[in-house]
Amino acid sequence: MTASVTEVAAGNPAAYGVETRLGHLGRDPAAHGRTVNTPIYRASTYVWPDTATQEQERLLAQDPAYRGTMYGRGGNPTTIAFEDAVAELEGGFRGLIMPSGLAAIVGAVLSVAKAGEHILVTDNVYPSARNVFTNVLSRYGIETSFFDPLDTDGIAVRIQRNTRALYLEAPGSDTFEVQDVPRIAEIAHAHGALVLFDNTWATPYFFKPFEHGVDISLHAATKYLVGHSDAMLGLIVARKEIYPDVRSTVRGLGYIAGPDDAYLALRGLRTLGVRLDRHESSAIEVAEWLLRHPGVLGVRHPAFAHHPGHATWQRDFSGSSGLFSFELPAVPKPVLNVFLDHLQLFSMGASWGGFESLVKLPHATRTFQPLDPARQIIRLHVGLETVSDLIADLDYALGAFAHAQKKIA
Ligand SMILES: *Cc1c(COP(=O)(O)O)cnc(C)c1O
Repeated sequence: MTASVTEVAAGNPAAYGVETRLGHLGRDPAAHGRTVNTPIYRASTYVWPDTATQEQERLLAQDPAYRGTMYGRGGNPTTIAFEDAVAELEGGFRGLIMPSGLAAIVGAVLSVAKAGEHILVTDNVYPSARNVFTNVLSRYGIETSFFDPLDTDGIAVRIQRNTRALYLEAPGSDTFEVQDVPRIAEIAHAHGALVLFDNTWATPYFFKPFEHGVDISLHAATKYLVGHSDAMLGLIVARKEIYPDVRSTVRGLGYIAGPDDAYLALRGLRTLGVRLDRHESSAIEVAEWLLRHPGVLGVRHPAFAHHPGHATWQRDFSGSSGLFSFELPAVPKPVLNVFLDHLQLFSMGASWGGFESLVKLPHATRTFQPLDPARQIIRLHVGLETVSDLIADLDYALGAFAHAQKKIA
């Protein structure tokens, strides 16, 4: 995306390239003591100089789009700057900062569904979200069922009369199948259901949810947006017509996040493009190497032609991130541990999206497309280290693994 001279002169921010926007959104030096970065505003309380000003603001605040600060639970200039920056990048109306990605998931669902209603959820959903749907929201009368992420044609029959929303995540957690978001959104809307989408993997840098029929996008900002493994944070971005409901629900429930974490997320945005470009290229190099390795059974990565949903990914996404998985033969745990314990640079860790490489054994549950018990899925987050070092690390650990495998054969 490049801007014409007149658009830039007119100050139309949407006309700038994405890297320019990542550098400039959510900053206003003139409003903040001329500091380059929006400062950390610590505030529970805001005061008014007189009753007339207070009354004027009370009236303004009746507009759900109002961006002022009245009380800490509604936000502060740091959190609002982050909300506005990501909403602008995604093409949504407004954002709502949340204390974690999981809180964003719960907040988004509670904003659209009530007791007696149903949410249709992709089978490859983030496991902690699956737990919330099946074990927590069910206690409050919100019903959930799942759909096969690759069976787009089978979705319509799974939509019930009380289905309020379809919940998508592309590519899905651990197995990375890519759903046809625009087509699924068409089906959902034809049945009067909304579309909720977890955009954590791609971020707005690689996927624009609101250009693909999504009504509410949500993020674990904990991952790439913060980008340095040092904060828990979530964000919900909504379409204009839905935003007032989402805002009144999540702020009404008391969800807010602190300005320090919002500051870290804003700082993360400044380098999101360069970080993701490197995560992407290194991950593809590592995945290609793994695919050629004789001990590896397969690679699950949307950028590879054999991957389920690859064509959809190619059509709808502008890139891939650093998170994918590969498969080894299923072996007794002590043998698998030989592989994990010989890794030096890939640390065992539950999260991803930081600068560091991580390895994790996923605990995926599937209703459709059962996972092959003869294959062990291993999830990798390829960090920003020198890629040849990462490959050497895997080579060494896979060598030790092959040796251990032979001993039990
Ligand atoms: C980690 C993750 C979440 C949850 O985010 P937290 O900030 O850890 O609560 C949600 N969705 C996806 C896809 C994730 O990977």
